[in-house]
Amino acid sequence: MKPPRFRYYVPHSVEEALAVLAEAAEEAKPLAGGQSLIPMLNMRLVRPSLLVDLNGLQELSGIELSDGAIVVRAMTRHRAVEQSPVVAEHAPLLAEAIRWVGHLPIRTRGTIGGSVAHADPAAELPGVLVALEGMVQLRSQRGHRLVSAEDFFIDLLTTAAEPDELVTEVRFPLLPAGTGTAWLEVARRHGDYALVGVGAVVSLAEDFTTIAEARVSLIGVGGRPVRARLTESALRGQPAAAESWRAAAATVRREIDPAGDIHASAEYRRYVAGVLTERALALAAERAQEGARR
Ligand SMILES: Cc1cc2nc3c(=O)[nH]c(=O)nc-3n(C[C@H](O)[C@H](O)[C@H](O)COP(=O)(O)OP(=O)(O)OC[C@H]3O[C@@H](n4cnc5c(N)ncnc54)[C@H](O)[C@@H]3O)c2cc1C
Repeated sequence: MKPPRFRYYVPHSVEEALAVLAEAAEEAKPLAGGQSLIPMLNMRLVRPSLLVDLNGLQELSGIELSDGAIVVRAMTRHRAVEQSPVVAEHAPLLAEAIRWVGHLPIRTRGTIGGSVAHADPAAELPGVLVALEGMVQLRSQRGHRLVSAEDFFIDLLTTAAEPDELVTEVRFPLLPAGTGTAWLEVARRHGDYALVGVGAVVSLAEDFTTIAEARVSLIGVGGRPVRARLTESALRGQPAAAESWRAAAATVRREIDPAGDIHASAEYRRYVAGVLTERALALAAERAQEGARR
């Protein structure tokens, strides 16, 4: 199918893009990698009358360590994150999860800002951002604001961003020493959106055998990434051992409320969420212990 007619605008600066968005309000949509927006246009799921192409804005690209976080600017491609030594060293959960995003050509075009703004409930980036308790920076002509991942993702394809706001950067906070992470997911074929994905973060106490803090973030089991708070609090203070991970699988299955669809039933998603939670927590704890031995 062909998209409906739209006007196309190429701004030369972020300020210019913001001015155009402010004037057009809900009529306009920013165009990033186009990996989600173009199919949605072609299927007539969205009908903006104006596309504001961000691809020439160099100031929106780049990855840096700043203020205890990895800051990824919005137009940074998935592939750049995947290949970044800074990300590999300081945010291994992000490095591990990003390899699951689509196929190589999609990761070469798709952007971090686009993924976050699109807010697909089965997308990896939002799940990682929630697991790491990250922040999204939004800019408009009215100013800028930092929104926590928890507040940013509202529901299916719905975020806290207003139509005149651009996602300009995404911040992934660094984790304390003695922490391990793991990302696991199940998809029908590699490159498909996840049926269920789990990000686990395990921080060990000083004895390296007790769980000081654990986080579990799930995708594909709700309209937005889901933090399994009950599972997390039940793990605190427990031994970093197989029985704790098994118990977490049972708790997470009780805690989540996935919906069934043409891809998988609710029961299947619930079952897989338990299996992946158990495995991801065990792997994250193992990595935390390995890190401590080094
Ligand atoms: C076959 C296929 C498989 C895929 N599989 C996966 C997968 O497994 N996991 C996954 O996570 N994704 C997957 N994707 C989607 C891919 O990751 C996209 O790149 C991503 O969802 C959107 O990024 P984009 O840069 O292409 O954004 P675009 O498609 O350009 O934009 C998406 C939306 O975000 C808005 N937007 C973009 N940038 C900004 C900004 N800076 N500020 C405000 N709004 C903005 C746009 O207006 C639009 O509404 C897949 C895509 C395809 C085609």
